[in-house]
Parts: sequence; structure tokens; C-alpha cells
Amino acid sequence: MPRIGAHMSVAGGLPRAVERGIVHGCETMQIFAKNANQWRGRELPREEIREFRTALDASGIAPVVSHASYLINLATTVPALRAQSIEAMGDELDRAEALGLLGVVLHPGCYTRGTEADGLVLIADALVALLRARRRGKTMVLLEHTAGQGTSLGATFEHLASIIAAMHDHPRVGVCLDTCHLLASGYDICSAEGYARTFTRFGRLVGFDRLKVFHLNDSKKPLGSRVDRHEHIGQGCLGLEPFRRIVNDRRFRGVPMLLETPKEEGPAKGPLDVDRFDERNLRILRDLLSARR
Ligand SMILES: [Zn+2]
Ligand SMILES: [Zn+2]
Repeated sequence: MPRIGAHMSVAGGLPRAVERGIVHGCETMQIFAKNANQWRGRELPREEIREFRTALDASGIAPVVSHASYLINLATTVPALRAQSIEAMGDELDRAEALGLLGVVLHPGCYTRGTEADGLVLIADALVALLRARRRGKTMVLLEHTAGQGTSLGATFEHLASIIAAMHDHPRVGVCLDTCHLLASGYDICSAEGYARTFTRFGRLVGFDRLKVFHLNDSKKPLGSRVDRHEHIGQGCLGLEPFRRIVNDRRFRGVPMLLETPKEEGPAKGPLDVDRFDERNLRILRDLLSARR
């Protein structure tokens, strides 16, 4: 059975994310290891890290990944921004390592000058250097397939494959597929035929052994829109069928599946408050799973 979970807030401290994961029945989880819209994060006290790891071990929630800051752009040719991006990604990797996470999900980047191919090489070079400086680490870089908005790279399987190739097939690089981004970038996973074609192509170009995470989100925008807007499961342009296929697909059995669907609005929630949207989306995914048993 695939492990199903969601992105959980770290508001109130990292251990609160584990408590939220438990009350939502998450079997796997994603967090931000620092504020995703800022360059610098607060230093994590040793005690907080220890408390997080203890709570996580006791919960059985695994694996856990972090999502890197949205500011990081490893494809930029602007020297100051590149240096800042490399430093920030290094910090993300160090945080994830200290927290014992499987990996850091990263949007590959947006090219600012030159060709797409130049941008892909810039990303690979930065990642190789970051991993080389952390030789003894275990945390992986998880390249997220993107919706293809603007000049963002990584919206085709070919892009992901060329970054991995330029990293000389580094053992610590993996891939994250987001169902919303697949549709938005032009991969039709709604029909049985389109689904089969898309994942055959993925297997051939990238390989299922590189697939480490799924983001399960429905899409507000249609096929090929190149716009990244997440919707509740079954309520967007994907509908339920692609999710039914994914959670029951034997090729994805070991792959953690994480929701990044909209949360309930209103006052900030305490760790023990259940988000009814997450609760419902998780239940829908689990119902699809049992439907075929
Ligand atoms: Zn993302
Ligand atoms: Zn998205």
C-alpha cells in the first residue's frame, strides 16, 4: 500500500508538525524546515530537533520530506542571486539532514539568460557542488516536476533527465511528481491511454527508481495551461480517476503520496485541531485505494 499524508504546518515549532500529522492520520508528511518565503531561517535549537525526531520515531510517520524555499533559483546567471541560492539550498540540506528527513523537494529553477540547456547545467553544477560538500550526508535532492509557468525549468521529463545526467546520475538525486503540475504542463493523465503514455514516457526518460515523492493535488487549470493552482482532490480538472490509478498503481507502491491542497481558512489552528479539508482529501484518497481491493 502507498503511504499517504499531507504537508503539515510547523507553526509553534517543528514538533507541532508531528502532532498535526498524527491527528490527521498521516503515514508520511512534508514540512517547511524554515519559512519558505524568506532567505534566512531561525536557527533550530538542538532540543527542538531532538524532540522532533523522538516524536517522529514514535509516530511511525515516514518518510518525511521538506520543501525548499521558493526564493531559491539555481538556474539564474545573476552572480549574487546564484550565490545566495546555493547557500540557501545548502542550509535546506543541512536542516533536513539534522532532522533525519528523506530529502528536500526543490523547484529546479528559472533561466534568466541563455538557453534552457544552459539553465539545466547551472542547476546540476550547483547541486553536485552542494552534495560534494556534504559527502557523508544521506538527505536527497528531490527535483520537482513543474507546471512550466514563465521561464521555469523542469516541466518536461526531458528536463529532469538532463539535470540528472549532468549530475552523472548522482545517487542522492531523486524526483517529485505533482499531479497538478503534470496536467498543467501538458501531460494528460486523465484518460487511461494518456495516463499509460505519460508514465511509460517517465519510466523511459527518468526511471521509476528516481521517483521518490508524489504530490497529489487536483488542478484548477486545464491541460497545458502552464498555470500552477492546486484544487481539492476530485474537484478540479483532474477529477478522481487519475488519483484512483496512481494510488493503486503497483509501480508506485513504495512512493510517499502527499497532499498540498488548500487548507481551511480562518484563525491559525492549534496542533490538535483537524483541518477538515485535509481530513476530507485524505479520506477520498484512502477510499480510492480500498475501492479496488
Ligand atoms: Zn513545490
Ligand atoms: Zn504546485
